[in-house]
Order: sequence, then C-alpha cells, then structure tokens
Amino acid sequence: MSETIRHACGVFGIADHPEAANMTYLGLYALQHRGQESAGIVTTDGTMVYDHRGMGLVADVFSESILRNLIGPRAIGHVRYSTTGASDLRNVQPILCQYQRGWVAIAHNGNLINTDELRSDLESRGSIFNATTDSEILAHLLARSRKDDFLEALQDSLLKLNGAYSMIVMNSEYLVGLRDPLGIRPLCLGELNGTPIFCSESCALDIINARYIRTVNPGEMVIVDRKGNIHCHQFANRKRVAQCIFELIYFARPDSWIYGKEVHAIRKNIGRVLSREQRTNADVVIAIPDSSTCAALGFAEESGIPFDWGIIRNHYIGRTFIEPTQRIRDFGAKIKYNPVKAVLADKRVVVVDDSIVRGTTMRKIIKMIRRAGAREVHLRISAPVFRYPCYYGIDTPTRNELIGATHQVEEIRKQVRADTIHYISIPGLLEAVHGTDKEYCTACFNGKYPLRFPGGLPSDDNLRLWKETVQRNEDIPVELAVSEP
Ligand code: SF4
Repeated sequence: MSETIRHACGVFGIADHPEAANMTYLGLYALQHRGQESAGIVTTDGTMVYDHRGMGLVADVFSESILRNLIGPRAIGHVRYSTTGASDLRNVQPILCQYQRGWVAIAHNGNLINTDELRSDLESRGSIFNATTDSEILAHLLARSRKDDFLEALQDSLLKLNGAYSMIVMNSEYLVGLRDPLGIRPLCLGELNGTPIFCSESCALDIINARYIRTVNPGEMVIVDRKGNIHCHQFANRKRVAQCIFELIYFARPDSWIYGKEVHAIRKNIGRVLSREQRTNADVVIAIPDSSTCAALGFAEESGIPFDWGIIRNHYIGRTFIEPTQRIRDFGAKIKYNPVKAVLADKRVVVVDDSIVRGTTMRKIIKMIRRAGAREVHLRISAPVFRYPCYYGIDTPTRNELIGATHQVEEIRKQVRADTIHYISIPGLLEAVHGTDKEYCTACFNGKYPLRFPGGLPSDDNLRLWKETVQRNEDIPVELAVSEP
C-alpha cells in the first residue's frame, strides 16, 4: 500500500512455559506491524503478578533485565496503535486491575462501539476509569458482575459488549482467548510442546517454533486452566460472521495464517481474480512494495505478463501516513520509493497496489514510473474502492479524506494520471478469499456495517470530533449524529 493505514493492535498469550516472558517478547516482536506505539507484558507465577509497559517499539520497551523480572510460566502481551484512547502510558495494554475477587489482566484487539453507553452507565454507578481505552470497560463489568465464578462473570460481561474484540484474558486461575460473536479481528490458537498459545497471527507462533492449530471461532472462549487443561465454550451464537476482509488484503503479514487461511496464498488468488476481471496488454507487472507483492505475483501468473521489481522501497524511513502535515507526507512519499529504470524504461507497466486511500502518494508514484521511462501505466487495485471508514479497530481517514468516497473511479484515474485503472469487485474479492458476505465484513467498500453504532453511524464531523476528543483524553460524546451511508 502506497499510503499506510495504521493497524490497531496485536495480542499474544502463553499458558505454561519456563520462559513465558521471553516467548511473549518474541511473539510481540513478530506482531510489531500491528502496532508500533506501545507494548506491554503481564506475567504470573500463580501467586504474584508482574507487569511492564512502555511507549515505543517492542525492542525499545523491553530489555533483558526487564524481561528477567517478568516472572512466571504464564504471560500475555500486547502491541498497540491507538484507535480509541489517548496515546499515553495509562492506555498501554495489557491492562491489569485489582478487584474484590483478585486481579485480572486483559489484552484487547478491536474497538467496542457501545463504549459511551457502557461507560456512562458504569460511571453513574460509581466506576472510576483510569484510562480512556474501551478495553477497561470489561474489567469494570467483571468487577460488577453478580456471578461468583470468574468464567461465568466473564461470559456475563462479554454479552454486554458490542463491537470488535479479540481478547486474551488472564487471572490467577485461567488464561482465556476469545473472539466477539462476529469474529471481526483474528485470533489464532497454537501450541508449543503441549502448552497452548494465543496470538493475533500465526507469524507469532513461527518465531518461537510453535505450531498453528486453528483459529479461535467467533463467539468462542478457549479456556486454559492452571493445570493446562483446555476447555472450549461457545459463549455467543453465530448467526453470521463478519471477519475483517482487509486483514487478508493488507493488514496481516503474508507469512501468517488467520481465519484458518494462508494469507500469502489468498493474496496471490486475489491477484489472479484481479487479472481475470480486466485483461491487460502490458510488458511487465510490478508491485507497490511490500504489501502488494503477493497480489502482483498472482496477477503475473494468471496474465502471463512477467513480474519484476520496478519499485524499491526504502525500509529505513518513517511511515508516510504518520507525518502530521500534507507537505511532510509528500516529501516522505518521494524518499520512500525509488523506481528501477532498467525494468520500466519503454515498457507498458501494470502497477498492482492493495488500495488507494487519499490518492496523493499514488499520483507521485505514477509520475515517478513515467519519469523512469514507462510508456503506459495500468493501475490495478487488489481491494475494492475504499469508500467508508472502519469503526472496528483500524484507524482509517474520514469519508471526506477518502478519494474513493468523493470521486468516481474514472476521476480517480485522471487524478492519479494512470492510463487505465481497475479495482477488484466485491464479488471477485469474495471469490478470491473463498468466502461469502455472510462470513466477511466488507463495510469499508460497501458501507454495509455488520454492527451499527447506537443511534446510527457518526457523520464525518462527529467521527473527527470523536477521534480528537479521545486524543485529548476527554469523555467520549454520547450523542453521535446519524449519517447513514
Ligand atoms: S470496515 Fe473494513 S477494515 Fe473495518 S473491519 Fe470491516 S473490512 Fe475490516
């Protein structure tokens, strides 16, 4: 993707290992692409609980001596990029709370959409929130549950949540991996020498030589007790599932398995379908590295047009999307990519990218490709037109900022100055992932949100206000104006 969308979070948990903190550190290291803002680990030896959190990358937050002090065979960890909650240390996960029945630690990936309702209700009954993340709400619900048994209290509390949550929850008795009833965010179950592991993506298993077993099912709790016994429990009905399809297109690492699927193979398949949907006469297929490479390889295989490395990415600069002003973003885009003239000169070039967000970076890249001597530039996008923001744990721009929401495809072509443009269709994408619209969320392409905000979707202005407010660390406004797509 030429313009980066920030990911939300990655989670990892291990039930019983003599080096649980080190294993969690490595798992988080493999999940670093899912969140670079902060990292944290909580461990337990069954009696005491130990924790460390910090702002920054995993390798910067943890040192050998810090990891040595994270004692015990059981651990959970989290990497975060904030989609709700201000960017400060109080919001770094896993959260760890003491309450009447002991302690509980929670690592959460996803966004709740009934936060303001739940928070207002809890505050009116005396709850005091330490952080501004929606994840803390579960701890308050647990503390207030009338159920004495921890697992019953957990189920009781989960049923009050509405939104996206893949979580790892730990207390002195249990380690629990769970997904919301729609299964919006991924969560994998793996094992290392018989000890269960939970993680957002299977690349976190590979790094510690663990084995992928399966995905945690939507609405399922996988419970590991102190003796290591596993018990699976379906806590919510699955009438339909809405797994985030953008994870397969872009967010997940291509060497991962998520939702029981191999991401690399799925991305190649998306490239194949993209090629079939719009046959193209060209001399070379290139990718916008790195996330589009698998789709470009699939496109090349299907079309018979050779793949080559037409653009090289500089991995040692900051992400363009993070820069605060348009002027700096433009500069960042220029230094991020460099064309390979020998590949592009005098060629008809197919450029495969996995989405267009604002369109500004793509225009610069196409200009760069033409300057390198390309005769024609045919843009092929391995996601459908990105028209709607995500409310389920991915930080996307508002509708006004999305070029797909404000322009027709032909206008986008003109704006980025491509000779032709084609986006994969939604049916084509579903065919490529071997799924249906009853299994995947495709809301950022068609506005069919599987869960609705109470009172309707926020308008652009209210979405912006909501984001600004949580960044300022204030209360989230309860009233959101209705603006249906
Ligand atoms: S709206 Fe898009 S990014 Fe968000 S969960 Fe749905 S498919 Fe994923």
